Amino acid sequence: MAMRPSQSDYDVIIAGGGPAGLACALSFARAGWKVCVIESQSEEQLARPAFDGREIALTHHSRHWLEEAGVWQFIPPYAVCPLEVARIETGEAGGPPLLFSSSAGSEKGGALGYLVANHLIRQALYQRVRENGQITLRTGAAVRHFRTTQAEAIVTLTDGDIIRSRLLVAADGRFSKLRTEAGIGAIIHDFGTDVMVCRVQHEKPHENVALQWFDENQTIALLPVSDESQTARLSSLVLTLPSAEIARLKAADPVAFSAEVTERTHERLGTLELLSARVTYPLKAVFAHRFHARRFVLIGDAAVGMHPITAHGFNLGLKGQETLVRALAQGSGDPGDRRCLEAFSWQHRKDTLPLFAATNMIAATYTRDEMPFLLARRIGLRIADRLTPFKKAVTHMLMDPAG
Ligand SMILES: Cc1cc2nc3c(=O)[nH]c(=O)nc-3n(C[C@H](O)[C@H](O)[C@H](O)COP(=O)(O)OP(=O)(O)OC[C@H]3O[C@@H](n4cnc5c(N)ncnc54)[C@H](O)[C@@H]3O)c2cc1C
Repeated sequence: MAMRPSQSDYDVIIAGGGPAGLACALSFARAGWKVCVIESQSEEQLARPAFDGREIALTHHSRHWLEEAGVWQFIPPYAVCPLEVARIETGEAGGPPLLFSSSAGSEKGGALGYLVANHLIRQALYQRVRENGQITLRTGAAVRHFRTTQAEAIVTLTDGDIIRSRLLVAADGRFSKLRTEAGIGAIIHDFGTDVMVCRVQHEKPHENVALQWFDENQTIALLPVSDESQTARLSSLVLTLPSAEIARLKAADPVAFSAEVTERTHERLGTLELLSARVTYPLKAVFAHRFHARRFVLIGDAAVGMHPITAHGFNLGLKGQETLVRALAQGSGDPGDRRCLEAFSWQHRKDTLPLFAATNMIAATYTRDEMPFLLARRIGLRIADRLTPFKKAVTHMLMDPAG
């Protein structure tokens, strides 16, 4: 790649120091570009991110990327929980569960994936960026607005500073203001429900099984997680209900909450005890109409904000920034090279659209309780369990083997 001399302050400015933005900064720096990340949160919030309830199911590909990028070493080994089996069930009379394990895929043995708390991934990415030393990280100031010319992106920050780069990367999350400012619309699928996530301790061991239970009137996931205690008696409870119900449960007294979720889970893991903050998110999936404009590109949730049911938002975000940096490496040496941005957009759309559509279909079919949807999911699970090629394909998607 032949670099051209530039008058801009940076080759690349990344707006947003979330997981996608920080990963992207590491990839650009590794490829020799001069990078600046702008993050509205303070340095302290990035260095010690608060628990946000999200437990990220990492694919093998994502783990491999984190290892290669020198990020994995900053995640405490005790906090990595291998996922051995994914168990899908539907309501009371739903019949036998649909089971996925690595032995159902083409890759025999080993874990399906790895569950790691999102705040620990964010912390590890921050530590690696700081250790790298080549990346400028500006915290405590947001991108207020920007404009682009043929030659560069001119970015105004909330502290009044104006900085310039040859490419502006928007990694500012699914409700991206930069996407709107660039005039890029998005498909926004509002599921009309909220999800609550929290950690619970339980009597019986989780045996590294993730349960996704599409019950009538509620959707529950219990994801195995791990901490210093290594007791296998810790899980993440993911509860999807109408917004008013979620608000009531969030405000409930912790003892009453623990009793209610023990009952809601039919004591599958015995008595549950709330151990963490209860964090809620509105369920809205987002897919940008385009992923680029002149000297401007979208990555992470700003490009594709997935419904969490298939656990792929971060995994796809990591892939997207890899695709972007790889596409630019084939270009003229200008990080705003239009043909490279087009190539990235085309490839990333191809990598994400089928999964985005399938995830929305699953989320809609499996969370509605009208009779046609109930019947469809009961029949669907029975058929799916007998379809070996289907199970292999889903297992492959869940694992996304490294390489
Ligand atoms: C409950 C739940 C469970 C999930 N589970 C999984 C899972 O198992 N597997 C998986 O792969 N994914 C999962 N995800 C998805 C995953 O968490 C997201 O895809 C990922 O966090 C998106 O990262 P991001 O950096 O694109 O966006 P964000 O994490 O939203 O980061 C955006 C950053 O931009 C900053 N910012 C915003 N505006 C500006 C501005 N104007 N200027 C400067 N900075 C700005 C924000 O402060 C923030 O730090 C889950 C999500 C949820 C809600």
